[in-house]
Amino acid sequence: MFRCLISSVRFLFRSPVKLSIIAIITLSVLRSLRINSNSILTETDEIVEACHFPKLSLSFQGLGFMPHKIIRPVCYSKFSPVIIQNYSLRLIYKRLNCSVRFYLGHGDHFYRVKSISLVRDVNIPILSDHFIVRCNQTSTPHPDVPYITIRNDKKIRQRLATVRKQNDDLNILILGLDSISRLQYERMLPKTHAHIKKLNGTILKGYNILGDGTPAQVIPMLTGMLERELPSTLHRDANGSFVDVYPFIWNTLRDRGYVTGYSEDGTQIGIWTLRLKGFNQTPTDHYMLPFYRLPATSAYRSGQNPYCFGKQTTFELFLSYIQRFWTAYSKDKKFFFGFFKQYTHDGYEYGSLLDSSIVNLLDRLSKSRELDRTVVILMSDHGARFSSARLTPQGAIEERLPFMSFILPESFHRKYPHAINALQTNINRFTTPFDVHATLLSLLDMNKLTTTAKDINLTQRNISLFNIIPAQRTCDHIRLPPHWCSCLKWTKVNVNEEIIKKAAKHVVDYINKILSAQCRPLTLESIRGAQMYRSHKNFSASVQRGFRVLGHWNQTDGIIFYQITLTTKPNDAIYEATVQYTANTGHLNTNHNDISRLNAYKTSADCIVRSYPHLRKFCFCIK
Ligand SMILES: [Zn+2]
Repeated sequence: MFRCLISSVRFLFRSPVKLSIIAIITLSVLRSLRINSNSILTETDEIVEACHFPKLSLSFQGLGFMPHKIIRPVCYSKFSPVIIQNYSLRLIYKRLNCSVRFYLGHGDHFYRVKSISLVRDVNIPILSDHFIVRCNQTSTPHPDVPYITIRNDKKIRQRLATVRKQNDDLNILILGLDSISRLQYERMLPKTHAHIKKLNGTILKGYNILGDGTPAQVIPMLTGMLERELPSTLHRDANGSFVDVYPFIWNTLRDRGYVTGYSEDGTQIGIWTLRLKGFNQTPTDHYMLPFYRLPATSAYRSGQNPYCFGKQTTFELFLSYIQRFWTAYSKDKKFFFGFFKQYTHDGYEYGSLLDSSIVNLLDRLSKSRELDRTVVILMSDHGARFSSARLTPQGAIEERLPFMSFILPESFHRKYPHAINALQTNINRFTTPFDVHATLLSLLDMNKLTTTAKDINLTQRNISLFNIIPAQRTCDHIRLPPHWCSCLKWTKVNVNEEIIKKAAKHVVDYINKILSAQCRPLTLESIRGAQMYRSHKNFSASVQRGFRVLGHWNQTDGIIFYQITLTTKPNDAIYEATVQYTANTGHLNTNHNDISRLNAYKTSADCIVRSYPHLRKFCFCIK
């Protein structure tokens, strides 16, 4: 094609033609070359975006989220016997017999208590980020009062003192919310959405999940790898390691002079502790999780309203830790990852409470000029997994398209226009948490980033979003199974077709095969719907053994994927399962990662929560 165009241009030069025609042809050649250089396309490749995302409606009916039904909690001040100032606390009441209990320890283990008696107006240096104050009057004991703050840690300060400060140092703040799709974020947090736009932020529209639940997104975002590619850290694996073995990005950032912080609420469904062994050592310089594990913390907030913590909402408390971290290290390079679940994990009734709090945080960071040197990433992990909305075709797509946005400082826009251009080009491209990991890494070396992207090819899985993602990239190129891919063209199939009945039976047989003896066997109740996708080119599928995927094989043709929505008894479950059918051999294949549970299982799987947490969506406990 290229040779042909060159000869056409030569011909045009020899002919008495208008210059404008030459200009048009030259421009199209240049355009073609530019795209070639960015995505390593061959001459015959079409320059179209290969991933076609379905058109979704923002005003989606049947969401189960009605803004007028939102109940706003009224939070009241509670008894608070100490004041925190300059990394110290002091008792402010007379005639109270109080002591502070600091918690000293590491990771997700039990912490040692160091108790100090308090005297009114005497400052006590704060030894741990979380602590409680216990007071007794002569007759009436007060409930323990929990506190969270940022301690002044000499070791951290000494380390940071050796870091050379530079004018273009960038802080990174990531604030994630659980279970909100991109569109639901816009519906539920309209002020935040508008604020991101006002700050020239970018919201990705083709950002796709990589599997079921939170860790399947957060592990690749923070490590650049899938859980199955990393050493086993499963509770039930006697030889498993603590998650400390993962190559977390905060380790890289700490090595590059950053002070680091991490917080996550909802520790009973902890990202690193529900199925995994948690941290042996504290992962970041400041770590809020142990605060949430204190019995005093749950007692303090479960009083009148679980959404309140004293006069603040629990989300304001969560953000106040980030704010304190920012203030405590005003002169240092900072990285903080906060992930908040309480208002959105089990429904959206209180979700809109998040909106003003996030805008207020952004305003405060803006007023203190922190946004001049901070990259803010507001995001979610996946859309709703269980709800009436999830049962609709749009709900199924929304689960797979979460929220991912970037607010970059004005100076960054001025200094790296090519990176901004690439990021904006990528808005409609197929992107994943792997790319966010690569983007975070590239923020450390922006001067080395080249947007010509000579090395990028279609099968590269982690691509910085400051490079242009190849237009032809699809789920297939990064080996994302069709079950999770939001840009495939599925065709409806009649549920009475023999192959659908066979595939549905295969799914239930498969579930029964992997269920533990503590769970009742399932029977197929009904098939609610089915659709198919025929892979027209090489496709790689996961090979699974003992629940850990060991490798891949390639099949060339005759493969059809069936996605079936079915119900089972006795657990009254609704499943959406993807089954791979190899027409040449008649072989059916599925695995537990490609089966979504579309209604909540609540406490029905409690008997295996520790032993087989990955089977919770299938198990209906015998006892
Ligand atoms: Zn989640």
